[in-house]
Amino acid sequence: MAVVIIGSGMAGFGAAYQLSHYDIKPVMFEAQSYYGGHTASFKTDDGFIFDDGPHISFTKDKRIQKLFSESVQGKYEILQARVNNYWRGYWIKHPAQVNLYGLPVELVKQIILEFIDNKERTQNGSDIKNYRDWLYAQFGKTFAETFPMQYGKKYHTTAAENMSMDWLGKRIYTPDISEVLEGALSQATPDVHYVDHFRYPTDNGFVSYLTMFLPLIELHLASGVVGIDPKKKELRLSDNRVVGYDKLVSSMPLPDLVKIIENVPDDVREAAAKLACTKCVLVNIGIDRNDISDSHWTYFYDQEYVFTRLSYPHMFSSNNVPEGAGSMQAEIYFSDKYKPLDKQPPELIEPAINDLKKCGLVREEDTILHKSVKLVPYANVIFDLERSDALTTVHEYLDGCNIRYCGRYGDWGYHWTDESFKSGESAALKTLSDG
Ligand SMILES: Cc1cc2nc3c(=O)[nH]c(=O)nc-3n(C[C@H](O)[C@H](O)[C@H](O)COP(=O)(O)OP(=O)(O)OC[C@H]3O[C@@H](n4cnc5c(N)ncnc54)[C@H](O)[C@@H]3O)c2cc1C
Repeated sequence: MAVVIIGSGMAGFGAAYQLSHYDIKPVMFEAQSYYGGHTASFKTDDGFIFDDGPHISFTKDKRIQKLFSESVQGKYEILQARVNNYWRGYWIKHPAQVNLYGLPVELVKQIILEFIDNKERTQNGSDIKNYRDWLYAQFGKTFAETFPMQYGKKYHTTAAENMSMDWLGKRIYTPDISEVLEGALSQATPDVHYVDHFRYPTDNGFVSYLTMFLPLIELHLASGVVGIDPKKKELRLSDNRVVGYDKLVSSMPLPDLVKIIENVPDDVREAAAKLACTKCVLVNIGIDRNDISDSHWTYFYDQEYVFTRLSYPHMFSSNNVPEGAGSMQAEIYFSDKYKPLDKQPPELIEPAINDLKKCGLVREEDTILHKSVKLVPYANVIFDLERSDALTTVHEYLDGCNIRYCGRYGDWGYHWTDESFKSGESAALKTLSDG
């Protein structure tokens, strides 16, 4: 039986792993000249390793932990996550709602008063229609508008009132008043971030977590799928080859998938066009010292800072940098639907370096050893108010074509790596049970 998988990311490899239990070696087509999708890692000529956006494994799933561990032969770092925030010159621990200590007194007072008042007024939550309503109800207006709504505008590229809440999960911590007070009065607070510990391969970057699965597939790199005829069960590849399949599992982004299928009905095309996702420009910087920050990553709230989040890859593994060096990866977000990318990615390198100097992370006397940029065309699915209905239309159509979708951009969700892997596994099971 010819099973074809589109895409060589976590989801594609999850599907392949599941198929291996049935003695099936799938054919995997990958558009890029490297495998791994978002979990790819890139070694630079000057000795740095940067992932395709910061990647750490914080899964609590023992089975996935074991698989990833086997893939790197037990060679991984276990780190206690340290995360902070930068806001108007203040550095505070994350999450801000339970770490207000040190912020301007008037602001802290207002946040606490509204927090107490809001909790009393919004007991039943019945009038919460969007993410902004939810933030107001959880934290009060001042905190919501000063922190998460500012961050969200940069990260999701759209306003909180245009977003649903079905992506939240444990992502935003909702404290009780005693935790808010404790964090306002003391700097020593418990760690409550949803990522408490994480693992990262000691060598060769995050992509090493996929090494073990490579023998399970027949991998074709630089082989983008550019056409699908679900009736004939045929794929057309970027080099014009036509390949037949019995079963098809796709992890490529839904908007692109719908565009390449023959004879898609108009309503499905229109629905796919409504699905919104951010693009991310990654600016990678290496400098000649490694004492840049104690944190593993930092959130930036101020709109005038070009980046939204900054991570420090040398803190994940010292093998990500030449000896003594330090590294930073800045994420700058855009989206076709809400905030189109209006410049060439390399034009963002200097603004990012300027902002790193402005907040003091890069000093005038530092030597910049490395600077590069990479565009990530699909980053985070935007949970805007159009997503849910549009997604149902697209998924129902694909179900009818027996195209099994998976992963962050097939399920069109907020999946982490472990969830994408497992999504690939279940898509493989579904395709095997299709008639
Ligand atoms: C900036 C950022 C940071 C993240 N950090 C973390 C983290 O710290 N920890 C964590 O667990 N998760 C993290 N994630 C989420 C994680 O990256 C995803 O859950 C996971 O990697 C998605 O895997 P996937 O296989 O679903 O998609 P992808 O990795 O995108 O794989 C899809 C593949 O399909 C290929 N493809 C597309 N079109 C075609 C075509 N026409 N033909 C052939 N191939 C095609 C693509 O090139 C790609 O390789 C992060 C995501 C982002 C954007």
